[in-house]
Amino acid sequence: MAKRLDAILVIDVEATCWEGEPPPGQSSEIIEIGLCVLDVATLERREQRSILVRPEQSTISPFCTALTTLTQAQVEQGVPLRTACEILKDEYKARQRLWASYGDYDRGQFEAECQRKDLPYPFGRGHLNVKTLFAITHALPREVGMAQALARLELPLEGTHHRGGDDAWNIAAVLAALLRGYRR
Ligand code: AMP
Ligand code: MG
Repeated sequence: MAKRLDAILVIDVEATCWEGEPPPGQSSEIIEIGLCVLDVATLERREQRSILVRPEQSTISPFCTALTTLTQAQVEQGVPLRTACEILKDEYKARQRLWASYGDYDRGQFEAECQRKDLPYPFGRGHLNVKTLFAITHALPREVGMAQALARLELPLEGTHHRGGDDAWNIAAVLAALLRGYRR
C-alpha cells in the first residue's frame, strides 16, 4: 500500500521496567503510547495524545513510577494493547502513514509484544529513526538522547520527560527542526 506522507506519526512508548531484570514471571509491557502528529507541509505539531495501556503480565515497580511518574492505579485505567493498536490503525492510519520514534526501542517493543501476544502489528513496514537522523545530520560520532538533541537545537524540553505524550511532542519538535533545515 502506498505510504501517506501528509503527516508523520511520532510515537513514544513507556513500558514496565525494573532496576535490573524483570521479576520471575513478568516481562516488560507497553503502558503508555504517546503520539504527536507532525504536519509535513507546515511542520507544525497537530495533535498530542497519551494512550494509557493496561499491562497483563507485569506490574508497575517503584523504579518504573520514579522514571515515568505512572502508577499501577493509573495504568489499570488504561485500555488493552489490542484496543490501543486499533486506535493507531483506525484513527491515525498507522499502517499507511510514515511513523517515527527516537531510537529503535519503540519499534522493537511493539514488534516483540505484538508477536508475543499474537496481536496484529499496527504499523506498516517503514520506520523513521529520529535519533539516527539527528546524529548524522549533526555529524556526531554517536547517537545522543532526546534531551541532548533538544538542548543542541536550543529547544525546550516541554512537559515531563519519560511520559510518552510529552516525549512524542518533544521528539516531533526535533524532527521538525531537522526537516526545516533540509528545506532552507
Ligand atoms: P523513554 O522513552 O526514554 O521514556 O523510555 C521508554 C521506556 O524505556 C521506559 O518506559 C522504560 O521501560 C525503559 N527505560 C528507559 N530508561 C530506563 C532506565 N534507565 N532503566 C530501565 N528502563 C528504562
Ligand atoms: Mg518516553
